[in-house]
Amino acid sequence: MSWEENVRRAVPYVAGEQPNKPGMIKLNTNECPYPPAPGVERMAAQMDCSAFRLYPDPDSTVLVDALAAYYHVNPRQVFVGVGSDDVLSMAFMTFFNSGRPILFPDVTYSFYDVWAELHGIPYQTCPLDQDWHIRPEDYRQPNGGVIFPNPNAPTGLLESLETVEEILRANRDAVVIVDEAYVDFGGESALPLVEKYDNLLIVQTFSKSRAMAGLRIGFCIGGEKLIGYLNDVKFSFNSYTMNLPSQILGAEAVRDDAYFRATTAKIAATRERVKGELRELGFTFPDSKANFLFATHQSIPARELFLALREADIYVRHWNRPRISDFLRITIGTDEQMDRLLGFLRDYVGHSGGRP
Ligand code: PMP
Repeated sequence: MSWEENVRRAVPYVAGEQPNKPGMIKLNTNECPYPPAPGVERMAAQMDCSAFRLYPDPDSTVLVDALAAYYHVNPRQVFVGVGSDDVLSMAFMTFFNSGRPILFPDVTYSFYDVWAELHGIPYQTCPLDQDWHIRPEDYRQPNGGVIFPNPNAPTGLLESLETVEEILRANRDAVVIVDEAYVDFGGESALPLVEKYDNLLIVQTFSKSRAMAGLRIGFCIGGEKLIGYLNDVKFSFNSYTMNLPSQILGAEAVRDDAYFRATTAKIAATRERVKGELRELGFTFPDSKANFLFATHQSIPARELFLALREADIYVRHWNRPRISDFLRITIGTDEQMDRLLGFLRDYVGHSGGRP
């Protein structure tokens, strides 16, 4: 008998690489190419470091209150965590305990199956249709919970609120989590449905639209009862999940709505322009409403393009997985970054004879 027989075995999620090369173009982890709101920098510069001596507020009250005010909900309906990954993992642990399989799409955020395995939750994937849309009828079978991103990742496709509500109506006896990591770039949030469905949990993040991936701030909004259960598990796990700077700077970011709207609109405008240019180069993609495109080329394999781009210090994401191995997920950067990407692709496609 070896101690290794008692080890919990896990196959970890593989995050996009975080290279740090001068002049590189990093379009592989859906970060925001613009800085956080100006108030965040001002507040960071004034921060009283002697406060680091103390434990942070375990309830993250400043941040919870700022989010509650912004989204017009009661603070008891808001829960914050160390990135939405932390919130999601905690939600899996709290809500998916029935022994019945939870349901999520076959092509989706590849952390869901990792958490299900880690927490011993059975799961079943439901194939997206050939246009990459969720088929709501797949979610009408007995289950232990439902989770999907909207817009979905890595496709970027948005489902209508009617589809979200159809899934909710069919699942009154299980928790339904809508992962809205990318909703701020043109999606429609299911937040108004929280009033109507006490089993709905909306999860969002500061990592993309609020340009604060490095501070690790995620949150969710739901009925008070759901949030109460989530807090019970969190406080049985680690009271002080969120550090003080993240609480203070996160609250500051929420207060600058004008900057938030301008930044997300700028990224959406760049996305729409890039769609047109990629189409001209022979790429096709689902009509993304997120801050990335999921593109395939008519003649050049995605893996080849991924490696050629990487060689040129342009980082995008590629997965060797069923259904998606011929796609690249390209984060929307600044206009200048996208122009460099497009310039490279124009040359490459031209030389490969892949021009349409
Ligand atoms: N959900 C989805 C769909 C994502 O793509 C990501 C980013 N990897 C996350 C959640 C987690 O982001 P974060 O932990 O930075 O909030």
